[in-house]
Amino acid sequence: MDLRELYQEVILDHGKNPRNHRFPEPHNREGRGYNPLCGDKVTLRLQLDGDTISDVGFVGQGCAISQASCSTMTQAIKGKTLPEVEELFSKFHTMLTSDEGSDDLEALGKLAVFAGVREFPMRVKCATLGWHTLNQALGDAGGEATTE
Ligand code: ZN
Repeated sequence: MDLRELYQEVILDHGKNPRNHRFPEPHNREGRGYNPLCGDKVTLRLQLDGDTISDVGFVGQGCAISQASCSTMTQAIKGKTLPEVEELFSKFHTMLTSDEGSDDLEALGKLAVFAGVREFPMRVKCATLGWHTLNQALGDAGGEATTE
């Protein structure tokens, strides 16, 4: 099995059986996201204690990539501080949008499975929806995050 197949397997697994697919109690932040191009929808709730995300979960529907991205994101950010999460998002975003991709896949851990999505610009929106929703939840601006 090559790396690409392995990545695909992880995405399909998380898409079918998303982790942290529940709302944590208690929670003090909520974000909602929508990707009109694909129809992906997600509601994310988290408990922020000081600057640490102590618990996080989501409920959503949409394509495997959007759900798998939310699933792996919740795993990646749980227990992390806001500066750590910001750095992770920045690396993830670079991996998906820069011409060179990321030179730091190791730091991304499981999030690296989305590296191949870079070749499909429409799918980048699916893969980043959860993260935009997270930003919205942390900013607590209200309303809905969209990928547009
Ligand atoms: Zn999608």
